Parts: sequence; C-alpha cells; structure tokens
Amino acid sequence: MSPVRSYFFFLILLGTTAFPALAAPLPACRLDGVMAKPVEVALRLATGAYAALGRPLRHGSVFINPSPGVSAAGTLSIFIVKDASVGAIDEAGCIRNKLAVIRDEELDDISVRGGCVAAAAGIWEIRCSADAVALFGYMGSRTEQVNPALLYVLAHELAHILQRRAGEYAGRVEPILLEQPAAAKLELLRQSCEASVSRKEVDADALATKVMARLLPESPFREPVFSRKGSVLWGADQLHLAANKWQKLALEREFISQRKPHRSFIATEFPTPPRKIEANARQFVCEVLKGNRGTVLYPGGAVSHPPLEIRMQRVAEALKPIAASLPGAEGKSDYRPVVILQEQVSEIFTFMYQENGAYLEGLQNAICTRVNSEQPVVDCRSGR
Ligand SMILES: [Zn+2]
Repeated sequence: MSPVRSYFFFLILLGTTAFPALAAPLPACRLDGVMAKPVEVALRLATGAYAALGRPLRHGSVFINPSPGVSAAGTLSIFIVKDASVGAIDEAGCIRNKLAVIRDEELDDISVRGGCVAAAAGIWEIRCSADAVALFGYMGSRTEQVNPALLYVLAHELAHILQRRAGEYAGRVEPILLEQPAAAKLELLRQSCEASVSRKEVDADALATKVMARLLPESPFREPVFSRKGSVLWGADQLHLAANKWQKLALEREFISQRKPHRSFIATEFPTPPRKIEANARQFVCEVLKGNRGTVLYPGGAVSHPPLEIRMQRVAEALKPIAASLPGAEGKSDYRPVVILQEQVSEIFTFMYQENGAYLEGLQNAICTRVNSEQPVVDCRSGR
C-alpha cells in the first residue's frame, strides 16, 4: 500500500473509537494507576459543574480502576487502560513485550482508541487510554495542575452518560455480514443514518463547553497571573495544543491499527465529482443489500463522529467568545492567545483531511438518501 493510500485509510478512521472491551473482559494487568489522581480531580470538578448547571449525574461514588466486583449499581467506574499491539500481549491479554505498542502493528481489542469512551447505556463506565490521559493529564512537567484538555475529554464522556448512550457510536468500521436477510441489512444502514446520532455528539460538546466555561475562569484551572477572561483563552490554547499532540500520536499509532473499509469509502480523486459520489454510494448499498456471502466493513459511524482533535479545536473556538464576555482587567496581566494550529501537520495533510472529510460526508448523505428511498436497490446491476 502506498503511503498516500495508507493516509486515506487512516484519515477515514482517524479518531474513531471502539468499545469492544465490553465483550472482552478487561484484565487487571492492563490497568494503569499512574494518572489516577488528575483523572479523579477533573472528574470531580466536571461532575460538580454538571450539578451546578442543573444536569446532575446520578452516580454515587466514583471508582478508578476498580477490581472486579468493587463497582456496584449506581456507581461510576473509570478504567485507565494500557494500550498494546496484538503482538505484544499474551493469552490473558497482559503485556508480555518490552514495548507495548509495536510500530506498524494493530492495537488489540482491549486498547482504547480515540482517547476515552463511555460504555453503552445501562452501565456507568468510562474507559480511557492511559497514553491519552498521560498526554492530556498535566500541564507539561507541572504535576499540580490539571490540563483543561483532560477536563474536556471527561466532560464529553460524562455528557454521554447523561444522554444514556454509548459514547462513540460503534466508532470504527462495523462488519456487516452479507448472509443476513436484506431487510435486516437495510434496517442497519437506516439506523446509521439517523440524524440523532451526530446530534448527540454536538449536544455532548455543547454540554462540555458549558462545563469548561464554568470551570476555567476559577480555581484550580485559573492561572493566578491571568484575569478570568485570560484564563479561558489560555484554556482554549491548551485544547489546541492537546489537539495537535493527539493528532501526532494518533498518526503514529492508530494509523495502522484499523481495518480497511469498503472501497467506496476510499476517495481516489479530489474534489470528487458528485456523479462519482453517487456511483460509489450505489455500489456500496447494492453490494450490502444484494450480496449474500462474506462481510463488508462499514465506517458509517466514523462519519457522524468527528475525531477527537477536531472536536477539541471546535470547543476551543467556542470558548473564545465566552472569554470575551468575562472581565479582563482584574488579573495581573492579560493573556494573549497564541494560535497554535497545525503545528506538526503539513498544509497538504490539512487539505487532504478536509477534502476527505467532505467526500465522506457527501458519500454518507448519498447512502442515506438511497437507503431511505422507496427502492434502494432499483438500479443495482443484476448479478450483484
Ligand atoms: Zn462522543
């Protein structure tokens, strides 16, 4: 696979997440307690902010990395999970290799992709990648200060718990078994097209933004040298920085770690002509509905769920007008935001990223129009 093609595979799935560990048990050897403290602090502050905003979370206690049986109904469990490649673990799922993450090798199913993920409805559980928490947790070497980026990631997942839905909508590519009846496959595609899925993501970020706007101007997030306004601007910059760092880590690590989706999802031409988008949508829908053998990998959920770094950048931008409404003169000095964008990412990458996003959005819309029409397979070529 050429590097450019690889990029496209990656871009499609960048930042998408999985929660397969619901099926696979999480062995204690994969839990990481190093960053338990900042996670606990950020969670406590976020929970308090939700209560103050009139959206109390109804859990009693919070357990970080609980042993099996410790968490009970009505409690919230947070697991900080050590990520590992498939070749680095033993049969029990424990890391046996010196290096947990092996270059160019797929992450195993216990690893958490995309930062943190909230469990499906009914269980109050959040799983975070230990690497992501280490990246977002503190302000550089200052281990007394929690990073606003960690606050954002946890506030977003808590919003999903308030919504009573699984955090990252079956994120990465979903296998569709073609041997199922056509009606079942059609239903599956229609479900992925429901507008409420992406709406919930937007709502989760709106809630997280409110939490940030409430907490950043005050202690312990407020930087003593800045005004309240300056503190929020400073927090927005921390989000931008974290987004850049995350993108770099995701590029290095999660790039190879995804399965290849159906070929319709791989853009070959930018900008893609509408006729081609339409043809690719038809090809995908026809293969899924008319096929009866094998599996098709569908990344529909990834389209409606923007990658973590994009969400972070959007929240950072949403914080700026909020900062503008706060008093600016009370601090010793005011903070001048440094716009740190695309630090490690080239212009061509940004272009591909945006164009690929536009293609996927167009394709997903075309697929949805088709599956919601009266005759989704009317123009499929026979024999497919
Ligand atoms: Zn989400």
